[in-house]
Amino acid sequence: MTRAALMGVGRERGPAGSRQPVWQAGHVTGTRRTAVVGGGIAGLAAARELAAAGDDVVLLEGSPEVGGKLRVAEVAGVTVDVGAEAMLARRPEGVDLATGLGLELVHPVTTASRIWTRGALRPLPRSVMGVPADLDQLAASGVLSDAGLARARAEVAAPAPGHDVSVGDLIATHLGDEVVDRLVEPLLGGVYAGHARSLSARATVPQVVALLDRGPSLVAAAARVPADAPATPVFAGLAGGVGRLPQVLARDGGFAVRTGATVRAARRTATGFELTVGPTVAPEAVACDRLVLATPATPTARLLADLAPAAAAELAAVEYASMAVVTLAFRVEDVAGVAALDEASGFLVPPVDGRTIKASTFSATKWGWVREAGAAAGVLLLRTSVGRHREEAALQRSDEELVAVSLADLADATGLTAAPVDAFVQRWGGGLPQYAVGHLDRVARIRADVARVPGLAVCGAAYDGLGIPACIASARRAVADLG
Ligand SMILES: Cc1cc2nc3c(=O)[nH]c(=O)nc-3n(C[C@H](O)[C@H](O)[C@H](O)COP(=O)(O)OP(=O)(O)OC[C@H]3O[C@@H](n4cnc5c(N)ncnc54)[C@H](O)[C@@H]3O)c2cc1C
Repeated sequence: MTRAALMGVGRERGPAGSRQPVWQAGHVTGTRRTAVVGGGIAGLAAARELAAAGDDVVLLEGSPEVGGKLRVAEVAGVTVDVGAEAMLARRPEGVDLATGLGLELVHPVTTASRIWTRGALRPLPRSVMGVPADLDQLAASGVLSDAGLARARAEVAAPAPGHDVSVGDLIATHLGDEVVDRLVEPLLGGVYAGHARSLSARATVPQVVALLDRGPSLVAAAARVPADAPATPVFAGLAGGVGRLPQVLARDGGFAVRTGATVRAARRTATGFELTVGPTVAPEAVACDRLVLATPATPTARLLADLAPAAAAELAAVEYASMAVVTLAFRVEDVAGVAALDEASGFLVPPVDGRTIKASTFSATKWGWVREAGAAAGVLLLRTSVGRHREEAALQRSDEELVAVSLADLADATGLTAAPVDAFVQRWGGGLPQYAVGHLDRVARIRADVARVPGLAVCGAAYDGLGIPACIASARRAVADLG
């Protein structure tokens, strides 16, 4: 491996942004050389942990930029998130990482959300992932029909099934189909872009399964879950976007970063691993002592084909949902009279209502920093999202068409009829893994097979949760698994 060869693939940057060569002159004999493949939040967090522990770390990212699903873009002159835009603040991993990097957290001005169903924007009733905590509040919201409400009131109490089932099956057994269709589906659609009747209850809504530890009635147990204290922020973000986090991690994480460095194969050597990096016409061999794969399931399956074939087969079976985020900027004065935009942080749409968009976030209402940055440019920003698992047809539209269907749905939902001054469509092909029934067992089998290979670990959204804190936690676990 030569310095020239290393520099032939993408951008190279030594620890703390220096321009030192990676693993040549700067390499201290005896220091473990660890490669992290994939520069999303999981890979970046793993690389930082490893560097802090004294490893000589290089992060190899296939695309031109680090960040993965965390990305910012400029819309009407304002830089905003066009992927993930918030992290759960109830878990420590995301907020600790951001504050440890010296970043100041911000919290949503409002998290009051709406459900656009049965022809109106309705308040989202208090629930535990769609299990209503107050049936009278649910009735007042108008989210369910009279028949759906009567079925929910007549809950069929039952203990937790002894095996994994789909979220939809679990909740419908207790509360009927309409609770699933109009409450659970939109919430799961927002987080997973998936469907309640396919997703694993144990992997995606463990808090719902845990309700049944308190007794056989979901509603009775949900009613006993205390509402979030108003002063306790549930979510956190960063002024300028959570998409800033990867950039700061790459700059200050103490590890080398190479972008445009797609890893195409990995094999075991006498002392560690050899990676095949870069285009097929000019492949480069990169040797390392230890290897962390922080890529989505499909590329990870390819990279594990020889190293851990059983894990590779399991990963190849993990399906992904594709989606698009459409960010729209309107002149402030053009939307001043649209009351709905000021009343909530946005709305979710149950698939059963047959609309194209599955959610809208009123970014300028939700985040003070988006409102202020937009106001300075004379615009108000919001976004819609389109696309659920196995509904790729919704995305087989041009960017202009995605903007047009977003505007049409927004007009019906909120009365907003102004034309945007700018729009940005970010497509996320294979954006979110789908945790099918049995996912936790699958992940255990994957980890067991990977653990057979000394010096190898995996992390990322495909395993223990797809939110930012869960991905960081999986990175820490991967580092611990390396031993
Ligand atoms: C539209 C959208 C909105 C979301 N909103 C939120 C939110 O608000 N809050 C939240 O907590 N979570 C949110 N999520 C989920 C969360 O952002 C992701 O689950 C998480 O960022 C995934 O991180 P990761 O590191 O596992 O993978 P990724 O971000 O997918 O990163 C993997 C990286 O690996 C690279 N790569 C792939 N193959 C190779 C290869 N062969 N060689 C080298 N590099 C490779 C990719 O280019 C990519 O950069 C959202 C996701 C999406 C798609």
